[in-house]
Amino acid sequence: MESIRRAAAAYYENLPVANKRYARYIFSSMDKNGDGKIKLKEYSEYLSKDNKTALAHPSLFRALDKNNNGSLDFEEVIVLYYITQSGRALFCKSCDTFLTDVYFSCSQCFFKGDGVSTYEICCDCYGGKKFKHHDGAIFCDNYTMLSRSRRLALQASKEEQRSVVKETDMIAKAADAMKETLQAYKENTKEWLRKLK
Ligand SMILES: [Zn+2]
Ligand SMILES: [Zn+2]
Repeated sequence: MESIRRAAAAYYENLPVANKRYARYIFSSMDKNGDGKIKLKEYSEYLSKDNKTALAHPSLFRALDKNNNGSLDFEEVIVLYYITQSGRALFCKSCDTFLTDVYFSCSQCFFKGDGVSTYEICCDCYGGKKFKHHDGAIFCDNYTMLSRSRRLALQASKEEQRSVVKETDMIAKAADAMKETLQAYKENTKEWLRKLK
């Protein structure tokens, strides 16, 4: 969790003023009684209302509560803000804990591209083989997945370039063929006029 806290602080520092103001706004809307602290009750109420039910999970609240005093201050809520904005709100599909550091995901599900079936699990569940998933699943950690995604994205853009080149080639060839047809038509017309004379 410590690395997420550091990333969140760096992220917040670089936010435009409007977004910082928005983060403050979120905090005060969570803080129902206005005492500057977010209790678990206020936290779950706010997040369930927003349909972010996965985030309302007490395991995330406990992870956010750095000093374990049972409530969140603004700095701790910034971490929540960062987690939602960066799409890091991931929970182990097996034991349901919030994934703070390195985790593993099924590469087949990850690259399936339907956007719903990603399957990620914590190191403990993966190492202890405490999960059930489809046969032949190949698991990769999140760093490997990121570099693979980059490779695939680069490959895809190269293929796209290749198909553009192919298309322009085809257009040029079609234009050539058209020129030939026109030329032949001209010759034919000339021949026909000559015969008429
Ligand atoms: Zn787990
Ligand atoms: Zn899978």
